[in-house]
Amino acid sequence: MTLEAPPARVAADGRTKRTLFCPTCGHESAMDGDWIADDGTERRRLLCPACGGAVVDRPQP
Ligand SMILES: [Zn+2]
Repeated sequence: MTLEAPPARVAADGRTKRTLFCPTCGHESAMDGDWIADDGTERRRLLCPACGGAVVDRPQP
C-alpha cells in the first residue's frame, strides 16, 4: 500500500505548501510545520504535537 501525501494547497501568501492533517485529532499544519520528527528508527515518522499520534509512518527511502 502506498501512502500518498495530501494534495498541495495554496497558502494565503501565494506559496504552495503541503498540509498534513492528524487523523486522530484533526490538527493541521504544513509538512514542515510543528510536527514532531521521530527519526530514531529506520522508519520516518511525524508525530502530532497535539495528541502524539503518528501522522506519517513510512520506511526510509
Ligand atoms: Zn493529533
